[in-house]
Amino acid sequence: MFLGLARGLIYTIYNLPLKITWNLGGGHAAAGEQSRSSGLAMFGNPVAPSWGNRPQEKRRMRTYRIAAIPGDGIGAEVIAAGIEVLDACAKRDGFGLAFDRFDWGSERYKKTGAFMPENGRDLIRNHDAVLFGSAGAPDVADHITLWGLRLAICQPFDQYANVRPTRILPGITSPLRNVSGPELDWVIVRENSEGEYAGVGGRVHRGLPEEVATDVSMFTRAGVTRIMRFAFDLARSRPRKLLTVVTKSNAQRHGMVMWDEIAAEVARGYTDVTWDKMLVDAMTMRMTLRPQTLDTIVATNLHADILSDLAAALAGSLGIAPTANLNPEREFPSMFEPIHGSAFDITGKGIANPIGTFWSGVLMLEHLGEPAAAARLMRAIERVTANKSLHTPDLGGNATTAQVTKAVCDALAGDNR
Ligand code: NAD
Ligand code: MN
Repeated sequence: MFLGLARGLIYTIYNLPLKITWNLGGGHAAAGEQSRSSGLAMFGNPVAPSWGNRPQEKRRMRTYRIAAIPGDGIGAEVIAAGIEVLDACAKRDGFGLAFDRFDWGSERYKKTGAFMPENGRDLIRNHDAVLFGSAGAPDVADHITLWGLRLAICQPFDQYANVRPTRILPGITSPLRNVSGPELDWVIVRENSEGEYAGVGGRVHRGLPEEVATDVSMFTRAGVTRIMRFAFDLARSRPRKLLTVVTKSNAQRHGMVMWDEIAAEVARGYTDVTWDKMLVDAMTMRMTLRPQTLDTIVATNLHADILSDLAAALAGSLGIAPTANLNPEREFPSMFEPIHGSAFDITGKGIANPIGTFWSGVLMLEHLGEPAAAARLMRAIERVTANKSLHTPDLGGNATTAQVTKAVCDALAGDNR
């Protein structure tokens, strides 16, 4: 299944510590080349590659250890494609990527009662990044899956900044009548650690007529301050230096009012950033009717979850949209994943759009400190999307996952910048 096998790559299966790295040899990175294409160049701070505790494997080339968690449904298909493309990318730019594959997901849950082993997080804690597919199966309740796998990684690893760039790539048609491309270029920052998804609440009198259920939104001064700083920093790093703070402080008069107050406090330290405030309901209208007035956007866990699906649809397809779940302090690995889910309707058909995973790979390369490779991969993606004969069915085409993957690998090989 994993094409990387052919390259001498051996994955860790069933979590056996069969860690094997391989030397991709050749080339060297185009030093100093900066990637602006994903809009997230600020994350390209070089980080020491992990030589780990493997002195016998020391070699001149830097190698990053990546934990690959395909998960459920089309997750397996898009992560296999992503590994193939990232492998080509690393080879082209002269560094190493060592993937460990973990079989964590709903199949494992149905067999063992747990999505990941008890020491699961310890197994990936020292990796340089996590590449994640999707969690969700038709016969397991979605809240069990989400809390059992994805949030079980995001929350303890304090990946509090969820970053979602949205652009209309070449060759892709937006459903918005008057938008040809450049009018829509956003980065949505989602608070990823608390808010409405803090998991606080409960149910009493289960099954009885007086049953009560609560979900309590948790907003902390520390949590709101750090996501606002992150969003202002990101807005500052982009050409327009423009931030929109999404809120609902008219109806929610405690947490959301504090959210607004902290936004205004943090803004004082960023006089070069223009910012405004928008109620979330009005925000949906602004995104569809005046997309060109937006650039960087920050919103709560729930609000940004919803708005970013809207953003993905406005940019052409959910299948294209990428995400980074960042622990900006780098105390824990960050996690990169396409926005889409398991897509049961197309699982196993070989037609899943892998572009969302490839673009997530661009974000991962930037985070790892490989901006030249990240920029090269973004150019390869755009060259492929520009060719309508390489569009998968979600974009109205007939191409397969394998064809798109091969085309991106070929575009990488042919990119001589
Ligand atoms: P979904 O993203 O799986 O699918 C929505 C629609 O978009 C489907 O018609 C699907 O075929 C299409 N689609 C999605 N990704 C595509 C791709 N790469 N290429 C082509 N078409 C694509 O959302 P859903 O149906 O709401 O959820 C299905 C399952 O996935 C649920 O169990 C849900 O909980 C889970 N899910 C997981 C994540 C995650 O792990 N991050 C995110 C969303 C949904
Ligand atoms: Mn979502």
